[in-house]
Amino acid sequence: MAAGVTRIIAVGVDLEHSRRALALAQRHPEVFAGVGHYPTEAAAPDIDALQALAGDERVVAIGEVGLDFQDAHAPDRDVQISRLDELFALAVELDLPVSIHNRNAAAEIAAAITAHPGLRGAMHYFALEWDWAERFLALGFCLSFAGLVTRPSRNALREVVKRMPADRLLLETDSPYGQSHQRMGMPNRPAYLLDTATLVAELRGISLEELAELERANALALFRKMT
Ligand SMILES: [Zn+2]
Repeated sequence: MAAGVTRIIAVGVDLEHSRRALALAQRHPEVFAGVGHYPTEAAAPDIDALQALAGDERVVAIGEVGLDFQDAHAPDRDVQISRLDELFALAVELDLPVSIHNRNAAAEIAAAITAHPGLRGAMHYFALEWDWAERFLALGFCLSFAGLVTRPSRNALREVVKRMPADRLLLETDSPYGQSHQRMGMPNRPAYLLDTATLVAELRGISLEELAELERANALALFRKMT
C-alpha cells in the first residue's frame, strides 16, 4: 500500500495454486485471483474444477495460461496447444480475460487467440519487439510489462512502451520473479512495481500520478470483476 499498489491479482499456475490465490483474495479486499493452468504442467487442466472456482466473485481472470516452447520438460507442443484451446474456450464462455504466458510461441498464441473470437486479455511479462506488439494489439490485447523493461539491454522493449497506445498498457511484478534492474538477486515483491512504473512514466512523458490513474482505468477496463 505504501508503494501505491492498491489492487493485486494473484494468479494460479495449477488447480492447487488457483485455490490458494482465491483463498488469499477472499481474505484480503485488495487482492483478486486468477485461476489457470501453466503450460509446463505435466497433467491436463481440470476444466470443470477451474470453471467452478472461476464462478467466485473474487476471480477476475483465467490465468496464468499460455504456451512454453522453451522449457525442455514441458508437454509436447500440440498437447500444450490443445489444452490452451480448452482454457481459451472457458474464458470466452465465462467472459473472463486471460493472462497469457508466452515463451517462444508467439505465432502459435496469436493463432489460438484468432481462433477464439471474443477472447480478451493481456500478454503477461511482455518481452517482444514492436512487430509482435503490433500483432497482439491488433488482436485487441493489452501488453503487460514487468521489471524486465528496466534492464539496460532492453531498448526494444522500451521502444514498445513508448509507441503503444496508452489504453492497452498494463504493469505487473510477476513476483517473486521479474525483478527490475535495481533489485536483481532479491525476490521480487508487489511494492517494487514502483521501479517499473517510474521508468514507464518517464518513457511516456507523464507523471507517476498520471500513470497510476491510467493503470487503474486500464486494469478495471480489462478485469471487469475487479471493482
Ligand atoms: Zn509467465
